[in-house]
Amino acid sequence: MIYDVIIIGGGPAGLSAAIYASRARLKTLLIEKNGCGGQMITTCSLENYPGFNGGIDGFELARKFEDQAKDFGAEIIYDEAVRIEYGLAKKVIAANCTYETKTVIIAAGTHAKKMNIRGEEKFLGRGVSFCATCDAPFYKDKNVLVVGGGDSAIEEAVYISKFAKNVTIAHRRDKLRATKILQERMRLHPNISVIYNTVPKEISGRDFPEKITMTNIKTNENKDLKIDGIFVFIGLIPNTAFFSGLALDEAGYVITDENMNTSVAGIFACGDIRKKQLRQVVTAVSDGAQAAISAQHYIENP
Ligand code: NAP
Repeated sequence: MIYDVIIIGGGPAGLSAAIYASRARLKTLLIEKNGCGGQMITTCSLENYPGFNGGIDGFELARKFEDQAKDFGAEIIYDEAVRIEYGLAKKVIAANCTYETKTVIIAAGTHAKKMNIRGEEKFLGRGVSFCATCDAPFYKDKNVLVVGGGDSAIEEAVYISKFAKNVTIAHRRDKLRATKILQERMRLHPNISVIYNTVPKEISGRDFPEKITMTNIKTNENKDLKIDGIFVFIGLIPNTAFFSGLALDEAGYVITDENMNTSVAGIFACGDIRKKQLRQVVTAVSDGAQAAISAQHYIENP
């Protein structure tokens, strides 16, 4: 069978593309590696998605997107895309099967960047975490370090502070990158403090982290901090390893035009994986809708 469109990735961009493609009556397959929702499911309250004043749980919103896509007729399978072959009939080679399609929409998102310091690998899942929603409850009355100064670090530090005794944020510069409303909210929590111009150097401990050595990048001075856990939010890396031949920017994000066309005809990209300024659920769903309509135009006017 030849699909009209195969969407790779079941985050908000991919699910939105699936809703729009199946409503356009395109034969639509969405391939997702784990579970639908992408990074959205690690957010306990999305408060800037229009229509949900007071916030909505990211997992719950993802389920609504997925149900909507299925109700319109999109097929969703759990498999891992490992290669895309371009040509008039395109192929998506996945771990369990090869699928043929007229168009491909890449919505594979990003993954968390690691610190690459000593001790990080040793304590992965045992004190080093990249997901506050998943792991914060384990740190009740404990001392936690959050690394990073962007929206994720500040938002998640506020969430972790509801459980932990103390949350220390280490940021490599003297100014936070996070949006102002998140910074204001952070300041309302007396158990959160920020150390500026500081980067982690080494995590030490026997079975679990006990201390972290930090370097002040202005003075080069090292300081030890007693901690029970480290949450790392230092940015994202686009998931582009499973395809080649598309134009990427210097950071590895897929370059598209405003209609989500990539540098290869019939291949579209949307959501966090593409080069753009604002990575939010609201921009991901907009990208997904546009990618589906562009795929439809490509099929109808080859
Ligand atoms: P981000 O915006 O790229 O911020 C990463 C932070 O980590 C920056 O403060 C950066 O420092 C720091 N950093 C980078 N590499 C580092 C290293 N090797 N060592 C120490 N620190 C390092 O990433 P993010 O916070 O994960 O956010 C990703 C995207 O999702 C953004 O577009 C963000 O706006 C969006 N997001 C939005 C919300 C929301 O709207 N509520 C929530 C979460 C995420 P510098 O500042 O010096 O570069």
